[in-house]
Amino acid sequence: MVTSNSGACLLDCGATAFVAMRRFAIDPARIDAIFLSHLHGDHFAGLPFLLLEQHFVGRRDRPLVIAGPAGTEQRLMAAVDVFFPGSAKLAWRFPLTFAELRERRTARFGPFAITPHLVTHPSGSAAFAFRLQAGDRLIGYSGDTEWTDVLLKVARDTDLFITECYAFNNSPRYHLTYNVLRQHLHELHTKRLLLTHLSQEMLDRRDEIGLEVAEDGQLIEL
Ligand SMILES: [Zn+2]
Ligand SMILES: [Zn+2]
Repeated sequence: MVTSNSGACLLDCGATAFVAMRRFAIDPARIDAIFLSHLHGDHFAGLPFLLLEQHFVGRRDRPLVIAGPAGTEQRLMAAVDVFFPGSAKLAWRFPLTFAELRERRTARFGPFAITPHLVTHPSGSAAFAFRLQAGDRLIGYSGDTEWTDVLLKVARDTDLFITECYAFNNSPRYHLTYNVLRQHLHELHTKRLLLTHLSQEMLDRRDEIGLEVAEDGQLIEL
């Protein structure tokens, strides 16, 4: 979750995101926009719960924008309908709009400007890394990807670069490993590097890494 003086957004909304928001007393009604890097369940499966909660329980009336790769609305509504049959046809009680993000086209949503860059991670549609501008602060986010030099562009001159780092050595294809990331550290020009999306092996070996690892509930001021 990224907040500025005049708005709040999410970078992805994975399966446990809604539970985590409740755990840390974050009211989902505060969120104005949700940016999806790609359409894998661990990055958007929290949305059916968030939407249904905001409709039936939160009784939201503020608008919500969901922006992601081509096909986001269809894939999300298919998931909503699997989990809660018939719900995809709900007349949402809040203005819900979808926006398609396109490679290297900067899109503005309230106080946020987001620029997607294509990365290497098959997921049924485009997979993006993001550069997110909020006021005069710049955040980079890798989404999911194996190493690509695109990440150098995404990280350049950022105040914070959040990158996946799934495995230590060997990884399923299309994810980043610590051993590969380490070789590129000198070219990543960011003020602060933060690792996320860690496998159990990475979590077990985090003391060997010497890089900052994201914690649930962690608050970062930029
Ligand atoms: Zn993925
Ligand atoms: Zn993932």
